[in-house]
Amino acid sequence: MKPVAFDIAAPASLAEAAALLAQPGAMAMAGGQSLGPMLNLRLARPELIVRLNAIPGLAGVAEDADAVTIGALVTHAAIADGRAPDPGMGVLARAAEGIAYRAVRNRGTIGGSLCHADPAADWPTVLTALGASVLTSSGRRIAMTDFIAGAFRTVLARGELVASVRIPRLPADAGWGYAKACRKPGEFAHAMAAALTDGARTRLVIGATGGKPVLLHDADATEQGARDAALAAGLDPVAAHIQSVMARRALQQASEGARA
Ligand SMILES: Cc1cc2nc3c(=O)[nH]c(=O)nc-3n(C[C@H](O)[C@H](O)[C@H](O)COP(=O)(O)OP(=O)(O)OC[C@H]3O[C@@H](n4cnc5c(N)ncnc54)[C@H](O)[C@@H]3O)c2cc1C
Repeated sequence: MKPVAFDIAAPASLAEAAALLAQPGAMAMAGGQSLGPMLNLRLARPELIVRLNAIPGLAGVAEDADAVTIGALVTHAAIADGRAPDPGMGVLARAAEGIAYRAVRNRGTIGGSLCHADPAADWPTVLTALGASVLTSSGRRIAMTDFIAGAFRTVLARGELVASVRIPRLPADAGWGYAKACRKPGEFAHAMAAALTDGARTRLVIGATGGKPVLLHDADATEQGARDAALAAGLDPVAAHIQSVMARRALQQASEGARA
C-alpha cells in the first residue's frame, strides 16, 4: 500500500514546528522508522508531515554534574556508538545496541521512540528504570513514569514536542541490569526488564506488557513481584513467567554491578 497524499514542512525552530503541529491533521516525523510503516499501511493519514531534522539543537547532547541531556533527534546508533555521553557504566549504549538492527538504529531516534510509545520498545522501560524525564517544547519536564499514558499514548498535548531527555547520573555504588526476550535478534521483545540498585534501594521496570512500563520498588522489585505485576497487567501465566525470568536476570546483573 502507499501513503495518502500529504504536504511536508521542514521548520527551522521548535516554536515553528509546534505551531505547525497544532493544526489538525499534522504529524511530526523524526527518523520515520515507526511512522514510515504506519504511513505505508495507512494506519496514519496525515495532511501535513512536519520533519524535525532541520531544527538546530534537537540532535545535541549536554552534561552537567547531575545528569546528561540527550536531544530528541539523537539516534539509537549514535548512543550505541558512544557518541552521546553516558550517565554511568555504559547503560545507554547497552540498551541502544539491542534495538532492532543497524539500519533502524541509524535513523530511529530516542525522542521518536518515546513518543511512539510502543509497549515493546526499549527506551521507555530503560529510561523509566533510570529515573529519566522528558523536556518538551512547552517547557514542561515530565517524569518518565508519567510520560507514557498507555500503549501508543503519551501525555503530550497537541503541538507539543519532545525536545530532549534528561537522565540522572548513576551513583558510583549503583548497578544496573537489562534483559529481554526476543523471538529473533532484531525483533521487538516480548518480555523485558530493567533494574537499577545501589544495594539498599532497587527499581525494577518490566516492559512489553501491552501497556505502559510497570515500575516496582524495593520489596516489590523481585522475580515474584514481576510475575504478579505481569499477571495484573493481563498477561497469561506463561508470558508472566517469561517476564519474571527477565526480571531475575536484570536484578542479578544489577546486584553484581553494585558489588563490583
Ligand atoms: C524493523 C523494525 C524493528 C524495530 N525494532 C525495535 C526494537 O527492537 N526496539 C525498539 O525500541 N524499537 C524498535 N523499532 C522502532 C524504532 O526504534 C524507531 O526508531 C522508533 O520507534 C521511532 O523513532 P523514529 O525517530 O523513527 O520516530 P518516527 O517514526 O519519526 O515517529 C514516531 C512517532 O513519534 C512522533 N514523534 C517523533 N519525534 C517526536 C518528537 N520529538 N516530539 C513529538 N513527537 C515525535 C511521530 O509523530 C510519530 O507519531 C523497530 C522499528 C523497525 C522498523
